Amino acid sequence: MTVGFSNEQVALMQAALDCWGLNAQVGQTVEECAELIVTLQKHVNRTPQPDALENILDELADVEMMLAQMRLVFGISDDAFRVRMGYKFEKLKQYLSESEGSA
Ligand SMILES: [Mg+2]
Repeated sequence: MTVGFSNEQVALMQAALDCWGLNAQVGQTVEECAELIVTLQKHVNRTPQPDALENILDELADVEMMLAQMRLVFGISDDAFRVRMGYKFEKLKQYLSESEGSA
């Protein structure tokens, strides 16, 4: 349920879920997504700051960790996730094809 994470990291995420519970971790996921949104928006709206990439990296890591916890919470298997990602990539391929066709 946690593509790309070690067993130790999965255990830590499960411990966080067990400690703080579903509602808190869903709320934390929303918060981390919002922080990433703000960080990315600042990057495109303002003169790039020296620490911009460090901040983006930090927020991407926060969001990835929370998304993995959401896969754990909702019992989404690695196989189900890979299948859905494959579907999403097919859709992306289709959108690109349509976009290139209209250019
Ligand atoms: Mg954050």
